Amino acid sequence: MTKKSIAIDMDDVMTDAVGRFIELYQKEFNEDLPDLRLPGRNLDNTVPPERLALVKQFPHRHDFFKDMDLQENCQEVVRRLQEKYEVYIATAAMEFEHCLTHKYNWLKQHFPFISWTHIIFCGHKNILGTDYLLDDAERNLKTFKGTPLVFTAPHNTHLTAYTRLNNWQEVADYFLK
Ligand SMILES: [Mg+2]
Repeated sequence: MTKKSIAIDMDDVMTDAVGRFIELYQKEFNEDLPDLRLPGRNLDNTVPPERLALVKQFPHRHDFFKDMDLQENCQEVVRRLQEKYEVYIATAAMEFEHCLTHKYNWLKQHFPFISWTHIIFCGHKNILGTDYLLDDAERNLKTFKGTPLVFTAPHNTHLTAYTRLNNWQEVADYFLK
């Protein structure tokens, strides 16, 4: 039987991109931004308006995508998923000029068991033809032709149109039980 296929997003699914914004905000302004972790929060409704433009430029910085923290249990669950599914990593990599090498190195370091044949650095994800897409961003989920699954992040807690997986343990339960 042909294995079903899953495309998995990187930022705020495998990595803690919200954490990187908080870290850089602290360095830039010498202030914490813990509220960015709260349900319903995003940059627009959390960062003071006069700082917003600068903070939105953080991903253009050279090191934004370097050595991001892993989401808990992600490595182990991806490894287990590979036994039953074709697992692809599908990450938008064309918007931010410095991200591609950092993302590549991050995958090599933390997921050496994922072949280069299963890594998709892309623009729009509507080109994907996998059976499932696990992503935190509505713009990717709403155009996906297979089964979209929303991975919970503070900025997507308002979404109700998709099956929601709150963490990697729930990803394992959904696909492997
Ligand atoms: Mg993402």
